[in-house]
Amino acid sequence: MRARLGLAAVASLAAALSGRYVAGREEASRQVVAGLGKKLTNLGAVDSLAIMPVVERLTREPGLRGEPGVSYLIKADDLTLLFDCGLGLGRDESTFEANARALGVTAEGLDCLVISHLHADHVGGPRSQLRHTFSLGHEQALPSSLPVYVPTQMAHPRADVCVVDEARVIGPGVAVLPPLERMLFWLGPVAEQALVVNVRGQGLVLVTGCGHPEIERTLAAAEQIVDVPVHAVIGGLHLPVHAMGTPLVPQAVLGSPKWPWQPINEADARSVIDSIRERGPALVALSGHDSTPWTIAAFDQAFGERHQALKVGQEIVIRAA
Ligand SMILES: [Zn+2]
Ligand SMILES: [Zn+2]
Repeated sequence: MRARLGLAAVASLAAALSGRYVAGREEASRQVVAGLGKKLTNLGAVDSLAIMPVVERLTREPGLRGEPGVSYLIKADDLTLLFDCGLGLGRDESTFEANARALGVTAEGLDCLVISHLHADHVGGPRSQLRHTFSLGHEQALPSSLPVYVPTQMAHPRADVCVVDEARVIGPGVAVLPPLERMLFWLGPVAEQALVVNVRGQGLVLVTGCGHPEIERTLAAAEQIVDVPVHAVIGGLHLPVHAMGTPLVPQAVLGSPKWPWQPINEADARSVIDSIRERGPALVALSGHDSTPWTIAAFDQAFGERHQALKVGQEIVIRAA
């Protein structure tokens, strides 16, 4: 009897999840890139862009801590911003805090914070995700009234939170794209925004968080909203291909946009590679926080010297041509 009840509960949960998934996929497919709003005419450009991964799964050297989360310190001329907050692992000190200390990074000098999407590995942990907020760790407080651009309703007691619903310039040469929607089977609907920086004479540098929206849609949105060719694609593209035996099983299962019995596979990675290759960027820097060693090797093969895996402490610098 108890077993039958248990089975009935599982069946009804499966039906509820499947129903939500089908409805959510339809909803997300209604968001077409052509309807994302008008071009940004006031973007401007920067002469220098530096991107320093403070949180990533891979590290430049053993003294730095790796975790499957994302936080990048970005300097675009005089604007200093943080892109995402990491996963927040660590009892006394979060990974962000430990690496920030080692790299000489502080939250004090920030002009703003951009949150790509409301997932634990980008907002500083599951507690922050549940509470619809963000955190850098135990000690690193955000400067008060710091402007924070989020793609979905979130709140913070000290920060000045701005929910982005269309493309928006946040500094000279720097903008966030409109949040793009995607339905994930287990985690449910997610809206994710990418950051773009226009480097004078080089082109557009696109920075993504998890890369849940298909990169083709993100690139198409960038092209529609900004009249600048893509120079670099940097960040997460959610390609945990052949995840068994790697630390990326949770990403492969929980973050999947497909039915649970359809893993993210080699064909998915090839289609992402094709979308990027079509744009001919000079640089592709893939995040290992949601991509496996197989995927990183596939990107190495596809892009050769134009590709590098992102590592904590390994800064990427792009200067005006
Ligand atoms: Zn992620
Ligand atoms: Zn995510």
